[in-house]
Amino acid sequence: RKRCIRISTGSKQLDACLNGGFQTMSISEVYGEFRCGKTQLAHTMAVIAQLPKEMGGAEGKVAYIDTEGTFRPERIMEIAERFGVDPDQACENIAYARAQNSEMQTELLESLAANFATNEYRLLIIDSVMALYRTDYSGRGELSERQQVLGSFLRRATQMAEEFNLAVLMTNQVMSDPGASALFAGADGRKPVGGHILAHASTTRLLLRKGRGEERVAKIVDSPDCPEREATYIITTGGIND
Ligand code: ADP
Ligand code: MG
Repeated sequence: RKRCIRISTGSKQLDACLNGGFQTMSISEVYGEFRCGKTQLAHTMAVIAQLPKEMGGAEGKVAYIDTEGTFRPERIMEIAERFGVDPDQACENIAYARAQNSEMQTELLESLAANFATNEYRLLIIDSVMALYRTDYSGRGELSERQQVLGSFLRRATQMAEEFNLAVLMTNQVMSDPGASALFAGADGRKPVGGHILAHASTTRLLLRKGRGEERVAKIVDSPDCPEREATYIITTGGIND
């Protein structure tokens, strides 16, 4: 029987908000404005997932679907050094794929099933989940088709999370028109894109925003077992930290 594992975020405060970190067998979504640290969190998680369980890891390999071309192996190596693991090994344990369009994003997900079947993988990152759907279905009247295709992508991701005991971490953008709708909006009006279909697929949702100076703030917006709370964290050379 598979048991759910929690993977640390690199920040003790944020881990405390999340009862230890992001869990396997479900989809977690982090959303927020440009430069709030979504990709840095993804890089940090890609290293921590490989660590022993005593260190907040899951002793697993990582799959990384990059839709914006912002993955940097150098960052993985710097974060690996913080945790005292071999930087080259840390990179080798990440199956990296760049998706150029939404169709490719789906194909890449499907092709990863073979990797996941080895039972060595504990984390799947999709950074970011909506970017390519937004460009591929930008025309008027294409929204319902987009949501249909998105729905089948998310169903497959959910299925894989459960079947292969994976934490699925998706990053997401916010609507450029804050306060456009009270629905899904955080206290400050930031609203993730992707509509109801993404909202229902994500078990845990986290809103990231810039705080004072170097500080960043994460707010649990939706979680089955954590109250709505905020944690502050910083972005360092070694990744997300307190
Ligand atoms: P998002 O994906 O949400 O747009 P990023 O994860 O790319 O945002 O975060 C960008 C932020 O991370 C920038 O403010 C940048 O200064 C910071 N950052 C990137 N690399 C480092 C580093 N090596 N040390 C400290 N901060 C960094
Ligand atoms: Mg990013």
